[in-house]
Amino acid sequence: MKNTHRTLPPHKNVALVAHDHMKEQLLEWVASRAEELKLHHLYATGTTGTMLSRKVGLPVRCLMSGPMGGDQQLGAMIAEGKIDVLIFFWDPLNAVPHDPDVKALLRLATVWNIPVATNISTADMLMDSVQMSRDFSIRIPDYDGYLKERTAG
Ligand code: PGA
Repeated sequence: MKNTHRTLPPHKNVALVAHDHMKEQLLEWVASRAEELKLHHLYATGTTGTMLSRKVGLPVRCLMSGPMGGDQQLGAMIAEGKIDVLIFFWDPLNAVPHDPDVKALLRLATVWNIPVATNISTADMLMDSVQMSRDFSIRIPDYDGYLKERTAG
């Protein structure tokens, strides 16, 4: 499949997700970056998002809880071009029951080539990037073009 481009806007749609053992780490990180994150539109899986809005006081659009379908909701939003950045502190030391959903979410983030951070240092580098507050063009699969070629003539 050929590629096309999508422009991520200066005010980005940022998805925040943390597995249970990683939630404290994400809460701390978000609190330390709250002023910058306020400039963007925040989305999160249910429990992560509820904790973020109650404990850090940021406006967050909460989806369903990850194990109940929230990871899949986020994956669908990425495929639809509605999420621009994924900050996902997944747990490297404990198994989760929804591992297939976690893989699917990370897979779609890769297919649609959005910036992803799975740990604090990458999340810090992302937030420190000048591209966070500018238009940023990313290469994405040209599915419409592919369909036209497949159905031409
Ligand atoms: P939660 O989901 O924010 O609802 O806990 C996160 C996840 O485990 O995917």
